[in-house]
Amino acid sequence: MRHCLHALASRWPWQLARSLSASLLPTSCALCGMDSDAAVCGPCQAHFLAPAPARCRCCANPLAARDARWPCAACQSAPPAYDATVAVTDYAAPVDQLVLQLKFGACLALAPWMGQRLGQAALGQRPQALPDVLCAVPLGPQRLIERGFNQALEIARPLARTLGVPLHAQLALRARETQAQSAVAPADRRRNIRHAFIVAPDALALVRGRHIGVVDDVMTSGATLNELARTFKRFGAARVSNFVFARTPPH
Ligand SMILES: [Zn+2]
Ligand SMILES: [Zn+2]
Repeated sequence: MRHCLHALASRWPWQLARSLSASLLPTSCALCGMDSDAAVCGPCQAHFLAPAPARCRCCANPLAARDARWPCAACQSAPPAYDATVAVTDYAAPVDQLVLQLKFGACLALAPWMGQRLGQAALGQRPQALPDVLCAVPLGPQRLIERGFNQALEIARPLARTLGVPLHAQLALRARETQAQSAVAPADRRRNIRHAFIVAPDALALVRGRHIGVVDDVMTSGATLNELARTFKRFGAARVSNFVFARTPPH
């Protein structure tokens, strides 16, 4: 992608606005650099995103057999708080670069493409019911200030439009700042994120008895999404489904 927002920070406002609009329109494939109207060109999509593996309908980890009728052994023995997960792709090279470009390179033009791909993946999994409302995994206030945007919310917006499901950006809030999960040992991630969320007081009626869809860019251990689902269930949600662009395969 030729333009990224971090390169524009020193410009005057009117120049920034013009360059910003240009930066949001992809002119080259984010993976191969060839000219492309889409954020990722057709050949790269065909090569790196297809065919989709059979995934556990609960946690989206790849299944050994091409039979997605049943949850994986891990989900059967210790069911997570969420009920389902839709993922577009594994979090693996070179597709992981797209997530890093969005999150740390501020290449916001990737978010609509990711959201649309995620929407197509979700619609392809029918008859699984669509959620009543979508939200994004909230960033802590400090991280939001540092980054300037929430990449999960940027993906959730086009996903909501693709699915025709309303998006409520403030459905869940961070109750406290936590260390980034990536900076915490896998064994400590559940404890790090425990009690990190609350349902927004003005959104209680949107949660009780409803099917909540939670959007994130990457699902790694699943501890964050599990804690968020646990929070929504505690506040009466009937069902929680995750929508993630990339899923880290088990080691
Ligand atoms: Zn390409
Ligand atoms: Zn599973």
